[in-house]
Amino acid sequence: MKSGELLLRCKICGNLVAAKTMHYTPDFKLICDDCYKKLFPPSKSQSITVKKPLTLKVKEKQSREWWICNFCNYKFSVKQGKTPLKCPMCGRSNLEKLETFTEKLVQEAITYDQEFDEN
Ligand SMILES: [Zn+2]
Ligand SMILES: [Zn+2]
Repeated sequence: MKSGELLLRCKICGNLVAAKTMHYTPDFKLICDDCYKKLFPPSKSQSITVKKPLTLKVKEKQSREWWICNFCNYKFSVKQGKTPLKCPMCGRSNLEKLETFTEKLVQEAITYDQEFDEN
């Protein structure tokens, strides 16, 4: 720690800590970073949102196009502008682009990127 750095005493644990690392509580107590994290842990719902696949799907919906295989009825999405050459399920090429899709379809369909992203 550099000399001359302003040290303040945490109102909770009593430790002397660098002022710039401290936090104010809603009732204007100055407390250290450790105590702040204990008192106000990052909300759990936030960290779950990051990994939630459903959120990702809804976000991607705008930039994806949905296709259905006329042979096996397999539904899948590719990035907008990509044209799948064959059905990832049965390998046949009688695919039809879906101009409209429902929320239910989005849930059912498989997001399929690996092969088509190559071309
Ligand atoms: Zn403290
Ligand atoms: Zn198919």
